[in-house]
Amino acid sequence: MALIVQKYGGTSVGSTEQIKNVACRIAKFQSLGHQLVVVVSAMSGETNRLLALAKETQDNPNPRELDVMVSTGEQVSIALLSMALIEMGFKARSYTGAQVRIHTDNAYNKARIIKIDEDKLRADLDAGYIVVVAGFQGVDETGSITTLGRGGSDTTGVALAAALKAKECQIYTDVDGVYTTDPRIVPEARRLKTVTFEEMMELASLGSKVLQIRSVEFAGKYKVRLRVLSSFEEGGEGTLITFEEDENMEQAIISGIAFNHDEAKITVLGVPDRPGIAYQILGPVADANVDVDMIIQNVGYDGTTDFSFTVHRNEFSRTMDILKSKVIPHIGARDVVGGDSIAKVSIVGVGMRSYVGIASKMFRALAEEGINIQMISTSEIRISVIVDEKYMELAVRVLHKSFDLDQTP
Ligand code: ADP
Ligand code: ASP
Ligand code: MG
Repeated sequence: MALIVQKYGGTSVGSTEQIKNVACRIAKFQSLGHQLVVVVSAMSGETNRLLALAKETQDNPNPRELDVMVSTGEQVSIALLSMALIEMGFKARSYTGAQVRIHTDNAYNKARIIKIDEDKLRADLDAGYIVVVAGFQGVDETGSITTLGRGGSDTTGVALAAALKAKECQIYTDVDGVYTTDPRIVPEARRLKTVTFEEMMELASLGSKVLQIRSVEFAGKYKVRLRVLSSFEEGGEGTLITFEEDENMEQAIISGIAFNHDEAKITVLGVPDRPGIAYQILGPVADANVDVDMIIQNVGYDGTTDFSFTVHRNEFSRTMDILKSKVIPHIGARDVVGGDSIAKVSIVGVGMRSYVGIASKMFRALAEEGINIQMISTSEIRISVIVDEKYMELAVRVLHKSFDLDQTP
């Protein structure tokens, strides 16, 4: 007998019919003698519907009230799933995040889990209940409801698995594992049997929304055995996130490709080339709590240089305003230009450490399609490029092909 945490995403609980199917799957695990904690998301589309309602009512919805509202999507799902299980003759009980007491900080809309009170859940499990917990939510120290950011139910699942020392955390979704890239963009994408924790961290942070980045962080910190599986197919092994590279049987040079178009690019032109200039440009940006991602500064010529960086798209106009009002006049730069029609495409793989020429292969593949690279950044196991947004999908397909990701290594 083992304690297993299962998480079912929005599409897996999209209708009452699907909720009954999920209940049948849970029943099978229960009949094998396992103890089960089940985390569910809101029914698909529900979180978006609620967010739209908020926007209709207030231009910039009040963050606390927004969390009070969007957390209701998951509350509906937990009750429906518990009803389906009870109807089948099982003992089941649902809890919202606040009822469990999933303690978070008070950063509404993107709160972090601090601590989980697991006593109540353990008592229920020992009494033979299937425990159903609302994903995506918690409660801060004042008792206000918080939510964990889009895709946050993954993190609830992994955090509960860590708190309860579960044998495994199973993330059930509408694909049967982690693929070499999003199978919606590249139909030839291949399921990975295993992916290392480090690779999954990079893929999730670079845009592969199959797992929320914080869920992967949690799995790493508490060594949770994490697996992604299909909620629509029977018997698949899915993808296991491994902590040892040796466990990774496939060992391709590149494991996957991630992409996103969440960023905007800003260039400060004609910057005087002197010490302290990077700080003078990015200091006020950081003071305004804007995260900066890629940064490029050219070699100076004639005493001036250009300085480019990217920020989240939502922060683009605010950052431009800061630069125009607080930076350009002070440092005596010529101008600031920017745009948000860019995309970031990244190749990821631990195998990169032991091979040379990966970057040039990537750049050649893009060049052959006439795709211009605007910015480049690298880590030990990743190369990211910024390209025009309209070439994003083409770039992903071309790279997938040229690194033979459709072939079993
Ligand atoms: P859920 O509602 O179950 O949380 P999500 O929509 O958040 O599901 O995540 C699953 C989706 O992630 C898939 O349908 C797929 O389109 C997308 N995805 C992006 N990158 C990948 C990848 N590398 N492997 C698998 N799925 C991916
Ligand atoms: N329902 C939330 C969302 O749509 C959380 C989740 O699905 O993980 O982002
Ligand atoms: Mg998700």
